[in-house]
Amino acid sequence: MALPAEVDAVVIGGGSNGLVAANRLADAGWDTLLLEAQPDIGGAVRSDRELHPHFVQDTFSAFYPMAAASPVIRGLHLERYGLRWCHAPAVLGHPRADDSWVILHRDLEITASLLDAEHRGDGAAWRAIHDQWQIIGPTLIECLLRPFPPVRPGIKALAKLPRVGGLSFVRSMLTPASTLFGHAFSGDGAQLLLAGNALHADIPLDAAGSGFLGTLLIMLGQTVGFPVPQGGAGKLTEAMRDRFVDHGGQVETSAPVSKIDIHSGRAVGVEVHDQLVRVRRAVLADVGAEQLYGRLVSADDLPSSTLAKMRAFRRDPATVKIDYALSGPVPWAEQPPYAPGTVHIADSYEELTTFYGQLNAGAVPDKPFLLIGQMTTADPMRSPAGTESLWAYTHVPQEVRSDACGELTGSWDASELERFADRMQGRIEQHAPGFADRIIARRILGPAQLEARNANLVGGSVNGGTAALDQQVVFRPIPGLGRANTPIRGLYLASAAAHPGGSVHGACGMNAARAALAGAKLTPRPRVPRRRPGIPLDQPPAPRP
Ligand SMILES: Cc1cc2nc3c(=O)[nH]c(=O)nc-3n(C[C@H](O)[C@H](O)[C@H](O)COP(=O)(O)OP(=O)(O)OC[C@H]3O[C@@H](n4cnc5c(N)ncnc54)[C@H](O)[C@@H]3O)c2cc1C
Repeated sequence: MALPAEVDAVVIGGGSNGLVAANRLADAGWDTLLLEAQPDIGGAVRSDRELHPHFVQDTFSAFYPMAAASPVIRGLHLERYGLRWCHAPAVLGHPRADDSWVILHRDLEITASLLDAEHRGDGAAWRAIHDQWQIIGPTLIECLLRPFPPVRPGIKALAKLPRVGGLSFVRSMLTPASTLFGHAFSGDGAQLLLAGNALHADIPLDAAGSGFLGTLLIMLGQTVGFPVPQGGAGKLTEAMRDRFVDHGGQVETSAPVSKIDIHSGRAVGVEVHDQLVRVRRAVLADVGAEQLYGRLVSADDLPSSTLAKMRAFRRDPATVKIDYALSGPVPWAEQPPYAPGTVHIADSYEELTTFYGQLNAGAVPDKPFLLIGQMTTADPMRSPAGTESLWAYTHVPQEVRSDACGELTGSWDASELERFADRMQGRIEQHAPGFADRIIARRILGPAQLEARNANLVGGSVNGGTAALDQQVVFRPIPGLGRANTPIRGLYLASAAAHPGGSVHGACGMNAARAALAGAKLTPRPRVPRRRPGIPLDQPPAPRP
């Protein structure tokens, strides 16, 4: 592997945040090298044909409402690099125990009239939430994606607040999902949509933050949909990579960084295989907080307070994901009025709260809440006509103390994964009898398999750490390090472990790149030596000017 001896910046990790950071630095004219541990870049935004050559599977993430709404991703103009978005006929569907469907459709009139048909007045209540969101939603997203405090978008949001009800609106955003829609709707449809979306992160339904997250996702579904990249999630990554390379960046895969070199409190290079790459400006780490502060930076280089606070860092729950190649569409017992891309499986709101309670208690849930992606429904290019590329995932505890069915230990060996996958699949069969007959192939990715494919998915966590309020904003990943800056000069945290956390919006990467550019203005640019191959590690680094 021919690595340059010295660059302006190294980005460690080619996930969506790393790619955004790398693009921003390349735009600023920095000589930037992106080093990715895996043979393919993309992190949790990748697709593959491992299961069946005719089926594209999104290995991890699949639907990108935050990317569609994010000024960061939109600002990259990835359509110039081949990105095309596709939409399923409906955004989201949720079958109840009696197989009737709650449907979220991108057409407001359709969503509202379906809710109204079940309970007169619920359509108007939905429209009212949508109207408020149209006024303030995009500004709230801007606030969320900026480093804290988000001064400019914050002022914009304050100016809009009186039009959406002032303090009552603020309070509603702090109200838990369990009670937010209590009085506004008489049916359970909107509540199921809200709660299912709130559980895309690990905030309890009766805790502050869950109502906001649920509202954010359902209103994104209503306004921008849950789009997927045509051809597979990997197409989003390819577009970001091609843009970066087009702007002069260099990508090296199968290049795991094993150490960040620190000299006098400043990041001066990274070690990969047996080589050292020196940096003139900065190292941006699209890696988990546990890896950064537990492995890549030596404990000797960190303040003892950082190490102490990291001991309280909490992961989000583990994940088990199944990918399917199906010979036909899912045979839903009752056909939804519009075919959804995303499907949530939980019989009722009460079942969702039980599921979350079991997770919190360390129990493997007996009725796992399933998030499902009907990918060929969303994008016909994913598999041959008449077939379906499908996935389903759910969460299990990071540390299993019991199993609500009394059969699994949480070892997640091959046999346990098969049995738990059967439990998940049973949930689909309940609403789609004959589902199993359509399976051509299935692949199970448990916590260890997910982490082996992406070191950031520690123990099968998907969001770079819990999304609970005590580990958000100024507390993310730890109190005192709520921005991209780290205790090491020239080293920035660019991954979902930083504010604003998980999901593909690119903000963690953009915030880190902006912090690096601002930091560099404060330090004089050293002399740029000629480019030559990476320096063997036994040769000591040249002293910094
Ligand atoms: C199963 C699953 C489903 C999800 N579904 C969705 C969804 O539908 N929509 C959505 O918006 N979000 C979803 N998410 C969350 C979203 O994918 C992540 O929040 C986001 O991709 C995080 O991006 P990142 O760049 O911070 O990290 P990652 O995407 O995790 O990328 C980190 C990269 O760094 C590399 N790396 C780590 N350590 C090193 C090292 N030492 N040296 C070199 N490289 C290294 C890794 O190999 C990886 O490529 C999902 C996540 C998972 C796991």
